[in-house]
Amino acid sequence: MIYKRSSALFAEAEKVIPGGVNSPVRAFKGVGGTPVFVEEAKGAYLYDADGNRLIDYINSWGPMILGHAHEPVVNAVVEKAKKGTSFGMPTEIETQIAELAVSMVPNIDKIRFVNSGTEACMSAVRLARGFTGKDKIIKFAGCYHGHSDSFLIQAGSGASTFGTPNSPGVTKGTAKDTLLARYNDIENVTELIEANKNEIACIIIEPVAGNMGCIPPKEGFLKSLRDLCDVNDILLVFDEVMTGFRLAKGGAQELYGINADIVCFGKVIGGGLPVGAFAARNEIMNHLAPLGPVYQAGTLSGNPLAMSAGLAMLTELNNDTEAFNRLEEKTAYLHEGIAKVLNDNNIVHTINRVGSMISVHFDEGAVTDFDTAAKGNNDRFKKFFHGMLNAGVYIAPSAFETWFITDALSYEDLDFTIEAVEAVAKTL
Ligand code: PMP
Repeated sequence: MIYKRSSALFAEAEKVIPGGVNSPVRAFKGVGGTPVFVEEAKGAYLYDADGNRLIDYINSWGPMILGHAHEPVVNAVVEKAKKGTSFGMPTEIETQIAELAVSMVPNIDKIRFVNSGTEACMSAVRLARGFTGKDKIIKFAGCYHGHSDSFLIQAGSGASTFGTPNSPGVTKGTAKDTLLARYNDIENVTELIEANKNEIACIIIEPVAGNMGCIPPKEGFLKSLRDLCDVNDILLVFDEVMTGFRLAKGGAQELYGINADIVCFGKVIGGGLPVGAFAARNEIMNHLAPLGPVYQAGTLSGNPLAMSAGLAMLTELNNDTEAFNRLEEKTAYLHEGIAKVLNDNNIVHTINRVGSMISVHFDEGAVTDFDTAAKGNNDRFKKFFHGMLNAGVYIAPSAFETWFITDALSYEDLDFTIEAVEAVAKTL
């Protein structure tokens, strides 16, 4: 495929935007080459600046569950835009989407909308600290909760791709309140709690990790975390920015039957517009301003365009009772197909999958935490990535990211993808 115009656009962008991108992973630093500039997208496909058509397995890092430019979502935004784009005043649609979200997600009474997943997680932690009166938090190595200071400690996603999981600019004072645990290692969490008795406000976790590739929680791990939190008066925060409204209507809480105390959402809840949210039971949410002392605010929070996109998408996911089964079936089909052609070609690999989140690691043995994820053969991943791109299939430009399957994919698209994997496997 030709990426002449994308390369030219990237060169222009580099002059005025740091690294040519507004979010680091987009820069292709992890895989080399220049990024693809998108012109438009429809359903399961991206169309780039050179006129190439790519099957999209990123889907804006999750939200395009029903496909790009999905008509009900686009129509809702267009109709709303005609009536004004921002007021900084309450609108009815905020209550409508809040009511719908509260009805879909277990164990929440109230929800507050923000503008990104970063804001959602940052605010959730402030709320946990304000509610418990404690300062420290536990996060897991390789989990990514956005780029606010407390979380840039052994963070996954772009922070891992670029080898800067601990960012300069995060003060020692902030870093000392973030304790790091190993994903899927309950003994490690127990030790941290014992060593910091009565000091931990919350444990924040991606209930299915998506930012070190896809890593499922081991059987019983989330339940053990829940029990530890109950015994030690610690709040359990599920970062469902990727898993919310994707793994099930009620996200990972529903899938695993575990209640979190605070749940964070992002991207998906806005149907692809800049939205995040955090939610909890009344006793916790009532600590937020203006009801309570924990401050949190946003000029554009609850923006009418964003709310209309989110409402259109959640409504469809709520009404289409088969959507999550179809996503599961399509992703399982892809999983089996890719595993077969990689096995047939003797390519050492491990595929992790939960529902419609899937990732291919080029290493043998279980990938269960950041250390095992980091062991993967990155050179092989780079070749794989570029081979797939040349075949017209766009996967995440980093081994530390998950693929997100959209319901807009047809079985022909999946077969095309599996054939592309087969062709690329022969070159690895
Ligand atoms: N939490 C998780 C689990 C994420 O995957 C991300 C972003 N990929 C975030 C938080 C941060 O969201 P945003 O990029 O919208 O700030």
